[in-house]
Order: sequence, then C-alpha cells, then structure tokens
Amino acid sequence: MQNSWDVIVIGAGVAGGLAAFDCARRGLRVLLVEKRSFPRWKVCGCCFNANAMAAVTAAGLPDLFCDQGAVPLDHLRLGWSGRTMNLPLPGGWALSRERFDQALVNAAIAAGATVRFQTGAVLEEMSSAGRMVRLRPSGGAPVERIQARVVLIAAGLQHQVLASSDPASSSSTSGSRLGAGCLISDDEVLFESGAIHMAIGRSGYVGLVRREDGALNLAAAFDRAVVQSSSGVSHAAELVLRQAGFPLPHEMETSRWQLTPALTRRADVFSGDRFLLLGDSTGYVEPFTGEGMAWALAAGAAVAPFVQEAQGEWTTDLEQRWQRRLETLTIRRQRLCTLLSTLLRHPVATDALFKLGSQWPAIPQRIISSLNQVSPLMASL
Ligand SMILES: Cc1cc2nc3c(=O)[nH]c(=O)nc-3n(C[C@H](O)[C@H](O)[C@H](O)COP(=O)(O)OP(=O)(O)OC[C@H]3O[C@@H](n4cnc5c(N)ncnc54)[C@H](O)[C@@H]3O)c2cc1C
Repeated sequence: MQNSWDVIVIGAGVAGGLAAFDCARRGLRVLLVEKRSFPRWKVCGCCFNANAMAAVTAAGLPDLFCDQGAVPLDHLRLGWSGRTMNLPLPGGWALSRERFDQALVNAAIAAGATVRFQTGAVLEEMSSAGRMVRLRPSGGAPVERIQARVVLIAAGLQHQVLASSDPASSSSTSGSRLGAGCLISDDEVLFESGAIHMAIGRSGYVGLVRREDGALNLAAAFDRAVVQSSSGVSHAAELVLRQAGFPLPHEMETSRWQLTPALTRRADVFSGDRFLLLGDSTGYVEPFTGEGMAWALAAGAAVAPFVQEAQGEWTTDLEQRWQRRLETLTIRRQRLCTLLSTLLRHPVATDALFKLGSQWPAIPQRIISSLNQVSPLMASL
C-alpha cells in the first residue's frame, strides 16, 4: 500500500463513508480506514430524515435510499404512560446500517477510494508532507505508519484516534445516558412498518422500527444506574415499553443487547493541525427522528472543499471556517433536540407536553416538522 495520501478518512460510518466518496469523486487520493469488518450492525435507530436525504443527494447519491430498498416512514408514534400520540413524519426512511454504510463504502470505492477494514487508526505527529497516522490491523499483522495532507476523523462516539488531552477530543457530560440496541427477527404485526414507534419511560426511551428486511430494530437510551443494576439492559427496555403502554415484542427476552459508551458529549474544537473532525466525533446530542445521521451526513457532504483547499497550505483560517460551517449545519439545530431530551427526562414536563399535544396537535407537529426541515444550506453544498 502506498505511504502517502491526499486524505485519510478514519471511520467508515455515515460521515466518513460520504466524505470518502465525495473526496474520491473530486479526484483526491483517498484512504478510508475502518476498524471493524463490513457489513456490520451497530446500535442505531436506522431512521433517516429528509435532511439526511438532502445531504446524500447534495453529495451526488440521490437514488441511494430507493436502490437499497429503504422503507418510507410516514409517522411517529409516541407512547407515554399508556397514552399514544401519532404525528406525521414527512420524507423519512428506515434502512439498516449494514446496508446503508456498505452502500456508501461501495460508492467510495467506485469513485476511486481505497478501503482498509479491520484496521484501527491513531493520529500521530506532524510530518513534512502532512500528518502521520498509525494503522493497527487486527489479527496481529504489523503496525504501519502512513501520512496524508489531511486526516478526517469520523470515528464516532468516544473514539481513541486522538489523545484524551487534545482539545478536539470529546468528553461525556454528567448525567449522560447509555445507548443500547438489539435486533429482533419476528413476523408479528405489533409494530407496523412505516412508523417510528417511540416508547418514553421514566428511565429512558426505546425506539422501534421495521427495517427493509422485516426485522425489528430496537435502539434505546437509558439512565446509567438502570443499565448497571443487576437486572440489566433487557429489563430496562421492558420497563420503558410497559410504562409507555407498548406491547413487548415476543423475542425480546432472548435478544442480545449491545451497549454504547456514555452518549451526550462535546469536543471543544473540531480541528487541529491537518485534521478535521466530523459526525459524532465532534459530539453527540440525543436524536429523535433521524437527526443524528443527518448531522453526520451533512458534515460528510460539506467537508471535501476544505480537504481540497488543504492540499496546499494549512491555515487557522481554514480551521475556523470548518468550525463555523459545522456550527451552522449542525450545532444550532441540535439545540431543539437538547431541549426536548431535557424536557422528556422529567415526568411532569412529559405529561404536560402530552396534554398540550392532545389538545393542540399542531404544536408537536410543528416541533417535529422543524426537526425534519431541510436546511437551506444543503442546497448550497
Ligand atoms: C441508541 C441510538 C439510536 C440512534 N438512532 C438514530 C436514528 O434513528 N437516526 C439517526 O439519524 N441517528 C440515530 N442515532 C445517531 C447515529 O447513530 C449517529 O449520529 C451516527 O451513527 C454518527 O455517524 P458517524 O459516521 O459520525 O459515526 P459512526 O456511525 O459511529 O461511525 C464511526 C465508525 O468509525 C469506526 N472507528 C472508530 N474508531 C476507529 C479507529 N480508531 N480506526 C478506524 N475506525 C474507527 C467505527 O467502527 C465506526 O464504523 C442513534 C444513536 C444511538 C446511540
């Protein structure tokens, strides 16, 4: 493998996959490095909103969701304390991460990118030609040191690409919940296709959606204390579903849950010498109806011009512009999600929201449509 690249992208999730594709189609020499083997399941609700669609379209892959057999989503069914609220959800899709992330990687390869799976990457010191990166292939193959003009860090939550003392490294906030997820293959009709079913309980929430293969995807966030209690994550999910008044999927007792690190986090800065952060590596805010991947994809679709510019000199002005770009594309839109997740942690506030929503359904509908509104910036990418 060659030793020097225009750009090394670390992490082949939604942000890294789209960024690698966009950089490769602009003629840059791209190496995409991913520590796991693909296709891989990961904890995620698998729901994409209209903003995610806009980002993928802006990057030049308008047919990706249809080509992959994504399931159109048309409503959100919220459950709280035995009450249900149905809200229209325009322009969403459900698609497994196995298929979506693999499709982005395939597009990147077709555009000319080189991909290394089962290889962990760590950022090292500056070199005369850019930035050094250490690759550690799994299975005991020797460690390699390579370099690039620019490194994109798209390695998700709590990545270990940077030293924890680096200002661009994120840390979790106090009271941060833990994410969890599992996949259930059943043919029940309890949770119909085309909807996000969201159960809200006192110690967290559980989102259920039917994927393109008919399997039921469960993704949840729980208070740390509940997950760490002896009864564990499956019991925590059962409790939330019962509190919301949702039925329990048959195979839930035997399902194997996977946990994430603490969710809510933020990096102080989104760049450093010859590297830029994107996606969850910049921080994480609990999403509701597909915002998480939309933010990561928006960053993935916006970064290639910065990478092209950085093939020459690296300037603090470029770093500042990337910071501002991300703030406009994502950070401001995250405020509404932060506010909602804070309110939904308090039973009194949740109760009030449900009462308000049943009397004036236009209010929650307006909140959901503003979360799903396509950012005008997408059109200018
Ligand atoms: C419970 C839960 C439910 C969610 N539901 C939704 C939802 O329904 N809709 C939505 O839009 N968002 C949802 N999200 C958020 C969404 O999953 C993330 O925002 C999104 O995956 C971020 O994409 P990313 O590319 O930044 O990171 P990731 O998708 O996490 O990808 C990072 C990749 O980097 C790889 N990696 C990590 N470290 C290294 C390394 N050192 N070297 C090489 N590779 C590395 C990882 O293996 C991974 O493949 C949910 C999240 C959680 C926790």
